[in-house]
Amino acid sequence: MELLKQRIRRDGRALNEHVLMVDSFLNHQVDVGLMRAVGEEFARQFAGCGITRVMTIESSGIAPATMTALAMGLPLVVMKKSISSILSEGILQTEVHSFTKNSSYQLTLKQKFVAEGDRVLVIDDFLANGEAAFGAARLVEQAGAQVAGIGIVIEKAFQPGHQRLIEAGYRVVSLARVSRMAENLIEFVDE
Ligand code: 5GP
Repeated sequence: MELLKQRIRRDGRALNEHVLMVDSFLNHQVDVGLMRAVGEEFARQFAGCGITRVMTIESSGIAPATMTALAMGLPLVVMKKSISSILSEGILQTEVHSFTKNSSYQLTLKQKFVAEGDRVLVIDDFLANGEAAFGAARLVEQAGAQVAGIGIVIEKAFQPGHQRLIEAGYRVVSLARVSRMAENLIEFVDE
């Protein structure tokens, strides 16, 4: 998606060879116009796949997933990273290792917000090692639903997440695929 790549080139900042900061338009301040375009692009790419529900992981997946659900006219469910006392009944959980925080959390989903037989589109902001996407997929499958696709805003293609997901049989669509990063340098796969 050219508009997204332009924005990453302009406002993204590689903290080092591994971590990309996009907090001025995706992770902290949110450019809702760009997110609307992101949502429309996912809706276009996954049209005709029989998707019945969009899901994401709090918090940075919420903006692109909201716009995707809006563009597709579907319900949105947000998986939680922490358990609250009011979330204790009928919940599904799986442990996920966080790439950025180097710690683990219990990804949590209330069973009643997924129907058996649902075809779920999982949306997330970044794909690195694939831990978050695999965790989301495990919960969808535990709930008796199916992962119909995984939509990623920014994939770091030099990390193994994409390959691992493909090998596990998932369809992955990434709108921007970063092939290499260094100080003041962000390169994309098709360049
Ligand atoms: P994975 O689970 O694929 O290893 O990492 C994906 C998750 O880690 C995403 O949900 C995202 O929140 C976070 N993440 C991974 N790499 C980056 C990065 O370079 N920048 C930012 N802002 N978040 C990242």
